[in-house]
Amino acid sequence: MAYAVTLIPGDGIGPELTRAMVTVLEATGLQFDWDQQEAGIDALTNFGTPLPEATLASVRRTGVGIKGPTTTPVGIGFRSVNVALRLSLDLYANLRPARTMTGVKSRFENIDLVVVRENTEDLYCGIEFERGQPETLTVIEALNRASGKQISPTAGISIKPFTPAACERIVRFAFEYSRKNNRKKVTAVHKANIMKFTDGLYLEVARQVALDYPDIAFEDRIVDNMCMQLVQKPELYDVLVLPNLYGDIISDLTAGLIGGLGVAPGANLGDNCALFEAIHGSAPKYAGQDKVNPTALILTGALMLRHLGETEAAERVETAVAEVIREGKAVTYDLARGQSVGTQAMAQAIAQRVQG
Ligand code: NAD
Repeated sequence: MAYAVTLIPGDGIGPELTRAMVTVLEATGLQFDWDQQEAGIDALTNFGTPLPEATLASVRRTGVGIKGPTTTPVGIGFRSVNVALRLSLDLYANLRPARTMTGVKSRFENIDLVVVRENTEDLYCGIEFERGQPETLTVIEALNRASGKQISPTAGISIKPFTPAACERIVRFAFEYSRKNNRKKVTAVHKANIMKFTDGLYLEVARQVALDYPDIAFEDRIVDNMCMQLVQKPELYDVLVLPNLYGDIISDLTAGLIGGLGVAPGANLGDNCALFEAIHGSAPKYAGQDKVNPTALILTGALMLRHLGETEAAERVETAVAEVIREGKAVTYDLARGQSVGTQAMAQAIAQRVQG
């Protein structure tokens, strides 16, 4: 049986990385029925929108998509293809594994962390009031009346809503992921000592959800302390679950711990659909040069295989990537200790090992 998967090559370096990822995934022997769809700058030219309805319809139909990076066009009033995809498909969980690999330059060793970030709420809802605008003054007056505080009329305001339902589903997602992937501990990260009715709510819900998973350890950390701990003793942590803003920041911190953008995979998941994408952008200056590192998107493909239940194939891909990088003979410029190869040649070297 072939897996129906929506394939969104994206733009910039996206199409060449997608080609590399497809080469490796097909080397596993699994069959894929790729439904190729457009998003990004090229879609804007061809369809008048960077996110055509056909692309969304395809992911809704297949339930699984894998995407190359897309450039966010500046100045056309479209925030980001990625944000639009997450909202339209209710992809509420952002999954960012971070594992060190021999051969990738990093200040750290033996890191194996998974960051689970809430994708739909928090300060990212886009509920903002610009300083000095009449509606902003109305909001400030109402807040001052209700809170008894005195916000200056010169302030700009951004709103941070948290709901029990969204807190519960992200924490539950982290525990379910831990169970399926044999992880031992979930750490909920927050600032509940300061923001009692948002982060406090999140922590209360997290503690409640944890009771349903006695087989997995649970603890919480205040976000500032978490940053220090991750730099000093990252080996103490396993799966971290965070609200949107802290998750955004900490997941880049963990990507930095393992050696940066070129090797960090990612995914956005909901109850009905999953969309897999590397965390790096479209690096337009390298587009079409067969130069950039395909590792992040190939490891993202392995994450997708795990999601499809193809654990053995996923492990073969991850092992092949780790071996090729450790040997250092067929790696791109950013990983090379001497001579480097191009994107497709690195993918071919990985694919050969996957085939065995
Ligand atoms: P970027 O990740 O595209 O590039 C920053 C730098 O990182 C590059 O110049 C390059 O030196 C390096 N780099 C990135 N990926 C690499 C790889 N695979 N191999 C080797 N080196 C790599 O970030 P940016 O320049 O801030 O963003 C460019 C565009 O991408 C923007 O329009 C941005 O909105 C978009 N973007 C898209 C996504 C996505 O689609 N998921 C994510 C982030 C940024």
